[in-house]
Amino acid sequence: MGERSARAGDQMALRRHNLSMVLRHLRDHGPRSRARLAAETGLNKATVSSLVAELTTRGLVRSGAVERGAIGRPGQIVELAGTAACAVGAEVNVDHVAVSVVDVRGEPVVERGVPLDASAVPAGEVLDHLTRELAGVLDEITAAGASCVGVTVGVAGLVDSRTGAVESAPNLGWSDVPVAQLLAERLGRPSYPVRVDNEASLAAIAEARSAGPDTPVTDLVVVVGGVGVGGGIVSHGQLLRGHQGFAGEIGHIRVDPNGRQCGCGRIGCWETVVGLRALLAAAADPDDQVHDPRLGIDERLAELDRRARLGDARTISALHEVGRGLGAGAAVLVDVLNPAAIVLGGYYATVAPWMLPAMEAELAAGAIAPRAGGCRVQVSRLGLGAVTRGAALVSLDAVFDDPTRIATAVPTRTVEPTGGVS
Ligand SMILES: [Zn+2]
Repeated sequence: MGERSARAGDQMALRRHNLSMVLRHLRDHGPRSRARLAAETGLNKATVSSLVAELTTRGLVRSGAVERGAIGRPGQIVELAGTAACAVGAEVNVDHVAVSVVDVRGEPVVERGVPLDASAVPAGEVLDHLTRELAGVLDEITAAGASCVGVTVGVAGLVDSRTGAVESAPNLGWSDVPVAQLLAERLGRPSYPVRVDNEASLAAIAEARSAGPDTPVTDLVVVVGGVGVGGGIVSHGQLLRGHQGFAGEIGHIRVDPNGRQCGCGRIGCWETVVGLRALLAAAADPDDQVHDPRLGIDERLAELDRRARLGDARTISALHEVGRGLGAGAAVLVDVLNPAAIVLGGYYATVAPWMLPAMEAELAAGAIAPRAGGCRVQVSRLGLGAVTRGAALVSLDAVFDDPTRIATAVPTRTVEPTGGVS
């Protein structure tokens, strides 16, 4: 490479870096004027204006109302624009597959789930179902004139997120399934990345980011309740993955050596006490509708909630017992990690009010630190949608890492004639 083209390369890299910085600043701190962007990022005003102009032609920001009350000449507010790009998140779990699409602002555009008894069919068939759901939303994205920047799938199991392979997912009955590769093939080898990650890790990312800029929760454990129970750990604001990426398998902590057999083959794992099957088994006879896998999980939980409200003793007692089990396990998590919050996600989010008193009492009694080390128990606001939301947000990071991934709406000098600009 000649000196001149090396310099041009450096300048392009610097430009990309600055575009990324401005876009992230708008995401993390909200709409503001060019003057404020310049003051806060340390870039000069002319540079900011040029960067905002480029981000505008790429459809990633727009200029709106005039900023009021600012010192100096009032300027137009710049904010993220939603429509140019979309990011896709998906989930494969024991009883459903789900997809979610977010726009550039991270706002959900589509959220969709279908009940599926995924443990009863081969992995390839589950991925066929998921591909159909994904193809549907990808068509919608294209029809709306947006580009898809990535697909990320959360799977309830041990995932090598670098290769996108599921090493083991006991409740699905999967081992060594190269999910990212199989999905990319089914989607026709798209130009955007197809990634796979652990479902509870993605839920933790969604919960940490949805806390909002004013209430940063930098140390939390998200407990995702389903047939299995997953854990996502955020420590100092970072997802804790561990040595091989398998941290957070809290559902398989042994709590009852004389208890029931777990999906992993061992006896007495935490999820045999606080997983969905334990709750349903305690709450209703096997032929009861709440066990019917053809019904959506939200419908079945709504039915349990209805019964509890009507004062049904068996339902209330089952919820209370799961709450006690949650508190006992949470005390272990608090002793090991001292989080600021334990967030109850997945199915717990729907029925948590019936579990919280028993859980909090058990947690306070079980943890060694006074007042559970300051740990609050919070109920997820995202609930069953946290996994796909976190997955979509991970996909969306690609735009903020490199805004030039999104083509300019009008061809410019820098675009090759074959650049595929439409
Ligand atoms: Zn287990």
